[in-house]
Amino acid sequence: MATLQEVIPPLSSSTAIITPGASPAAVSFRSLREQVNSVRSFLSSLALPPQSAVAIALPNSLEFAIVFFAVTYCGFVAAPLNPALKQSEFEFYLQDLTCPVAFVTTEENEAVVKAAGKIGKLVAGGNVNIFTISAREEVTVSGLDGRKVMPTGWKGKVQDAKADDVALVLHTSGTTGRPKVVPLTHLNLTTSIRNIVQTYRLTPSDTSLLVMPLFHVHGLLCGFLAPFAVSAAVIVPPMFSASSFWRDFVEYKATWYTAVPTIHQILLKSAAPERLPTIRFIRSCSSALAPSTMRSLEERFHAPVIEAYAMTEASHQMTSNELPPGKRKAASVGKPQGSVSIKILDQDGNEVAGGQEGEICVKGGNVTKGYRNNNVANESSFTKSGYFRTGDQGKVDGDGFVFITGRIKELINRGGEKISPVELDGVLLEHGTVAEAVAFAVPDEMYGQEVQAAVVLKADAKNVTEQDIKDFMAERVAKFKVPKKIYFTKEMPKTATGKIQRKNIADKFFKPQSE
Ligand code: ATP
Ligand code: MG
Repeated sequence: MATLQEVIPPLSSSTAIITPGASPAAVSFRSLREQVNSVRSFLSSLALPPQSAVAIALPNSLEFAIVFFAVTYCGFVAAPLNPALKQSEFEFYLQDLTCPVAFVTTEENEAVVKAAGKIGKLVAGGNVNIFTISAREEVTVSGLDGRKVMPTGWKGKVQDAKADDVALVLHTSGTTGRPKVVPLTHLNLTTSIRNIVQTYRLTPSDTSLLVMPLFHVHGLLCGFLAPFAVSAAVIVPPMFSASSFWRDFVEYKATWYTAVPTIHQILLKSAAPERLPTIRFIRSCSSALAPSTMRSLEERFHAPVIEAYAMTEASHQMTSNELPPGKRKAASVGKPQGSVSIKILDQDGNEVAGGQEGEICVKGGNVTKGYRNNNVANESSFTKSGYFRTGDQGKVDGDGFVFITGRIKELINRGGEKISPVELDGVLLEHGTVAEAVAFAVPDEMYGQEVQAAVVLKADAKNVTEQDIKDFMAERVAKFKVPKKIYFTKEMPKTATGKIQRKNIADKFFKPQSE
């Protein structure tokens, strides 16, 4: 498998996509492939230059799958965008990615249409062509005036993609700075898909429930493309909701799902069925999973919880714990999987001695060749031996398990003493009343940076004071690491993928004294 063209089996009558609530709910691989072929020949007829980027501003849906495969099969570049973006954000992305074409749903296109109108002149060809798409057993593509431009069965000459063509372009989450543009080739993606399939031993009898958005690698690669590659079905609700999650999980006999810890937390609070007879495993990725959350999930849902480590630049997965009877360790993100190689390097690019902390670096066919239009980042991101610097700090234990100890950019430097906010989050979460915790750096005259934290208390927490939590911390970490101030809040601001941006949280809570 060197291009995504090999992902959908063309003749299989087994179910590819289940859309709860739609009629019919299930669409077969054969039907999906036929609809993809129609859109593919339509796209080929537009005479776009090779490797043009096509914006896909669609929710998780059958339509998303059809456009994604049609675009990539033609050798064009899929540019999935969050359909809920505001006009100014669409302006930024359409221009940054120079998309001559965008696909939208009929309901949610106003922001895209206005953005396209405003920046059209700046894009190659002088225009952003917008199409709406609707599909089920047949697919139609319409222009903005509602006129059909491509009925089902459209047949024409089609273009083919090559392994080294860029298939996907995404922005990183922007957790530590301005999002960077990551191009990923067919070979990057198929390598990653193969690694994921192997790690979780996916088979055609699996069914997964997709909850992560398709405009990031987590949902797209692990939740969507990897199952398709083994002819397994994917349940695709348009968005995540805890109540419909369990209904769909039981009705369609799901065997696994993958999500960020925030979603697992919501599911733990939800009214889940007593028994989940079909569940095989739960995967957690993209943010640190607290060992207490892992324990609660396993007790509640009677399935192994497998934590993995991933990033956009690596087409998602790098390391993962293993399914039983393989080993897994709480607080570890597991071992490199498939063809991925991990090394812990110091600042000069030398490997650290066994068990020592350093920067987690990764190499493999899944890793991007470099950011787009960002020589500065590219020069500092790759070592001489071709390893990509993840920006994450970590270590590997004697059994080869990787532990992430923080993000290098987020380390708190208190008078030269480096403090990992991730470690402090974990200790705060051990306090019986704390539901969410984020430690961060704030500027300090004496030390350069000082430690503070924000916490969300559990609903049933009573009479907890800032001092109680500080005392609790002082018993568990060195004095200089104890947060000097702890803010109580009802909600922690997060990115669209449920990630914590420490810098934003620090800005939200910390007000310099002069103000
Ligand atoms: P930016 O690079 O723009 O700052 P980002 O790094 O958050 O944003 P992504 O590519 O979405 O963008 O996320 C990758 C990062 O997510 C990893 O580098 C790592 O810091 C974090 N991450 C992924 N999986 C885990 C995990 N299991 N535990 C802890 N952190 C994780
Ligand atoms: Mg990153």
